[in-house]
Amino acid sequence: MRRCGRIIVCFSLLGGVAAMAAGPDWETLGKRWWAHVQYLADDKLEGRNTGSEGYEKAAAYVTEQFRNAGLQPAGANGYAQSVEFNAAQLDEQHSSLELVREGKTEAVKFGDEAFITAGQDLADSAEADAVFVGYGFSVPELKYDDFAGLDLKGKIAVYVTGGPATMPGPVKAHYQSGDERRKALAKAGAIGMATIPNPKTAEVPWSRTAASRFMPRMFLRGEEDGGGAKLKVALVIRPEAADKFLGGSGHTAKEIFEAANADKALPDFPLAAKIRVKNSVKKWQVTSENLAGVLRGSDGTLGKEYVVISAHLDHIGVGEPVNGDKIYNGAMDDASGIASLIEIARTMKESGAKPKRSILFLAVTGEEKGLLGSRYFAEHPTVDAKSMVADLNMDMFLPLFALKYLEVQGLGESTLGEDIRAVCEAAGVQVQADKQPDHNRFIRSDQYSFIRKGVPALAFKFGWLPGTPEEKAFNDWYKERYHGPADDVNQPVDAAAAAQFNAILEKLALRVADAAQRPQWKADSFFRRFAQ
Ligand SMILES: [Zn+2]
Repeated sequence: MRRCGRIIVCFSLLGGVAAMAAGPDWETLGKRWWAHVQYLADDKLEGRNTGSEGYEKAAAYVTEQFRNAGLQPAGANGYAQSVEFNAAQLDEQHSSLELVREGKTEAVKFGDEAFITAGQDLADSAEADAVFVGYGFSVPELKYDDFAGLDLKGKIAVYVTGGPATMPGPVKAHYQSGDERRKALAKAGAIGMATIPNPKTAEVPWSRTAASRFMPRMFLRGEEDGGGAKLKVALVIRPEAADKFLGGSGHTAKEIFEAANADKALPDFPLAAKIRVKNSVKKWQVTSENLAGVLRGSDGTLGKEYVVISAHLDHIGVGEPVNGDKIYNGAMDDASGIASLIEIARTMKESGAKPKRSILFLAVTGEEKGLLGSRYFAEHPTVDAKSMVADLNMDMFLPLFALKYLEVQGLGESTLGEDIRAVCEAAGVQVQADKQPDHNRFIRSDQYSFIRKGVPALAFKFGWLPGTPEEKAFNDWYKERYHGPADDVNQPVDAAAAAQFNAILEKLALRVADAAQRPQWKADSFFRRFAQ
């Protein structure tokens, strides 16, 4: 044993010398990172659905890795913080969707033409007039209101996804978030919503969107759907079948998509058909946990503040088979982010990092159910709420090719933008702002739970230039693998580039942890309001 120990010391010294001469060994670090992905995205973990046995195994693995990395428990019970959910799943066989036009009833085919989104507040049955309401949201401070002058009382609002091109991305994203939209609809008196996805911004083929309806949906126990906005009807309409709903109104889906894609004003009009729905929803309860570990800050005062690094441990579990595979492994989404979380903690331990502020490593559950684990943590933090100075969230950063560009969501919103620019510049990586703001990514992962509590945040994707093979690889990944069984360990990934990303995130966290001032929202940031 003793001799073995000396050999290890010797090797690590040599390793240190080599590192100084040649830089970090990205290949080796990449393999370490990939090994966590392989464990977490193995078929044995069955897609890590919130509350499942597979999730429990994943949680046990992360707990052990946090301990090995020398992190102190920072949950409510050791590393763990329990989160309680209500689950709901549509029983489609006992549900129905029909259009009633001029006394005639026409059935809508589930999956092929539309589907019902299960919720805990859906009515057993409903029949109502429907109104097309453009993009279906309102932004009070810009005096933009798709509902202005419309009578939505007791009606179902039908809308197309997206928003005016001139509207700033973050504003558009915020008001289109599920909660805000539902709140606005309920305030306008609507009893239901029907979404028509614009095919131009669809990330996955309709078949995968439709297959997602069989996955159970979850809600934080004690909260209603959409933060208190009870809607009796919630539908998604296939774009190619939208004319079935619009028939007789004098408008077509083609006309609406063309106007949206040319950024022309969208019409609003009543549908000629009433929508009749029967909802049969199975409900049950689920418990799952967030995991939190801390590297204590060395400074007496600043050590009481926390830089949060987060990623989500859950994925969507087992679902409709695609090419005979029913396990949705979630290798990139988001075993990759959890692997980075572990590796960042581990390299901080190995380098003996002594940041002034504490660094909180957070693995959350329920992200795929609507950012629920992170929302619960942000609402019920295991550290003082005001002590969280930043959230750096890693969700599906997509290391599919070399790291030359890093796309940063939230880049212009807070001083964290300057921090990531400085760190990337030193690493020879170019920072890019969000290139696809219509995809709403800044509000689509766990950073948003912190943003809503006033905490400045960033999120990341590997960047690319338009017209390059990298752009194609990035977009193909969404089409072929995003939320599909093909997001598994048998996909080409640049693990060495992932290790470089981890090093950048580590340096970013340390820089923020050591800064004299805590990060600040920019004076003109839309999200600054949540900090006041
Ligand atoms: Zn994700």
